[in-house]
Amino acid sequence: MLNINSNRSAGRAATVRMCVFAALIVLSLTVSGQAVAKVKVVATLADLAWIAEQVGGDDVEVSFLCKGHRDPHFLPAKPSLARKLKKADLLVYNGLELEIGWLPLLLDAARNPRIRPGQQGELNCALALGEGEILEVPVGEVDRSQGDIHPLGNPHYLLDPRKGIAVGRLMADRLARIDPAAADRYRSRAEHLAREIESRMEDWEAQVDSLAVKKVIVYHQHWEYLVEWLGLEILGVIENRPGISPAPRHVEGLIELGRLQGPVLVIAATWDHIEAAGRVAEKTGSALVVLPGSTYATEEAAGYLDMFEVICGKLETAEETAEETGAEGGS
Ligand SMILES: [Zn+2]
Repeated sequence: MLNINSNRSAGRAATVRMCVFAALIVLSLTVSGQAVAKVKVVATLADLAWIAEQVGGDDVEVSFLCKGHRDPHFLPAKPSLARKLKKADLLVYNGLELEIGWLPLLLDAARNPRIRPGQQGELNCALALGEGEILEVPVGEVDRSQGDIHPLGNPHYLLDPRKGIAVGRLMADRLARIDPAAADRYRSRAEHLAREIESRMEDWEAQVDSLAVKKVIVYHQHWEYLVEWLGLEILGVIENRPGISPAPRHVEGLIELGRLQGPVLVIAATWDHIEAAGRVAEKTGSALVVLPGSTYATEEAAGYLDMFEVICGKLETAEETAEETGAEGGS
């Protein structure tokens, strides 16, 4: 009898365990069901992914295609990236043909109708720029055979944090259309982000405003928006045609200009030809400043705001060297 009772209670215990187990499964399905309901955002760039995370919060799941340390003009269109796009509800991209070399290929491979051009799930973030805000729009015909990779104007607008604010608001509007139940949350997060960026901008502007060296030579035309925002001046570009290795004669001319008009700062992104930029810096007696050209380009640039923190900090430190060497060179 005891054995039977013991078997019965063991049976009841097993039934209870099964019920608990079943309840846990239901609970986990519900939880994962909520996770599935999150809007899946795929950003082409790390900057855009970071902004999407701030605006989307818990309502979105964000991934991105081009790692922060890579030159966004050139990215191998790998099948693993197409698979990310396959599941996306919203694709956010830089536009102005920055991703022209790889995004169309990935979109074809992904076969996701939600994010095709013209669909609600496709967002060209360059639409956040107002009229006249795109820098270096080419006048006349663009000769693409020359390899010009800025045919619609300079696409690197995210290096101006004010554009980051506008992009955040644009994303909030689109997310609100895709997921109307969370519309207020998207918009209030975008405004929170705007306030955060604005409050940090004052410090960065003051930091760079105090620099005595305001002239820069850049490797690629990556820094025009940053330079305009911070009130610096571009003396010249080492890579005279975007995406094409610079001609030696052009570089010699630039070195001459740097010597005459120095001190300058020579700026390159971490993915540029640092050696070539370094040679220009050396020959003009200038400081070479290697900067994160994107969020996550370096370990320190651990977010969009951290990137500007690093950029302004490095400009400030480099200037001390530039002033010293420039003064020596001029004497
Ligand atoms: Zn470029």
